[in-house]
Amino acid sequence: SISLSAITKSFGKNSVLKEISLDIADGEFLTLLGPSGCGKSTLLRILAGLELQSSGTVSIGGRTVDGVRPKRRDVAMVFQSYALYPHMTVAENMALPLRMRGLNAWQRLPLVGRLLPGTRIAKRQIEEEVRRTADALSIGPLLDRKPGQLSGGQRQRVALGRAMVRQPTVFLMDEPLSNLDAKLRVQMRAEIKELHSRLGVTFVYVTHDQSEAMTLSNRVAVMLDGELLQVAPPHEIYADPDDRRVAEFIGSPK
Ligand code: ATP
Ligand code: MG
Repeated sequence: SISLSAITKSFGKNSVLKEISLDIADGEFLTLLGPSGCGKSTLLRILAGLELQSSGTVSIGGRTVDGVRPKRRDVAMVFQSYALYPHMTVAENMALPLRMRGLNAWQRLPLVGRLLPGTRIAKRQIEEEVRRTADALSIGPLLDRKPGQLSGGQRQRVALGRAMVRQPTVFLMDEPLSNLDAKLRVQMRAEIKELHSRLGVTFVYVTHDQSEAMTLSNRVAVMLDGELLQVAPPHEIYADPDDRRVAEFIGSPK
């Protein structure tokens, strides 16, 4: 499980997160929903360890992770801009997190010296893992292409695949579909939902798109101006908003 406890964040005098407390259960699909600038990405980056909170505590799996570097947290993050390396093939892009992990493991062993033997053994495993993941996402035939030779949806799948190969227990996704056209967005939505039920791991998803939040999530956390206004299942947010600001943002009758 993930536990955020009284998280605040200021950039200079600008207070962008105000005492955010939130518990996320294992296997849950939780979406942070709110307008542009409300602090969604900042909160997600704090979870990933890419940004340090000003105060408060983050724990993942019952363990405080404050000060733990991103790579050592058991999370994978998918960004809005896919951040694939253009000069590498799809397969190389997907292998990257595993290669980094493999090299780190060998470097820590004393007296091994050169990395060659280790990387050769790991290489076959990495190739198998990348192939398996690519097949699961129907991008097997694209493994030898470069990102520039892919459509937006295909690139998005590669970015997902690169996060998946690490087999994290938590997926963090920051508006992963916002670069896609409307039709593809709906299609990828279904794929993300399927991925969530297949992997059974925790997803923390960020969007300002209400219908995306409502169709994907077990619970939606509505954010406004750095505050968490309501955390509830989608139907409840809509039918029974906690206050006028939630109702206005959602456009529900209350
Ligand atoms: P969007 O939907 O547009 O992506 P968001 O909800 O993700 O918005 P954040 O990116 O978390 O919003 O930004 C929250 C606030 O913090 C904004 O006012 C932003 O200008 C500010 N902010 C974010 N990062 C920094 C930074 N590195 N330095 C200063 N201010 C920042
Ligand atoms: Mg953002």
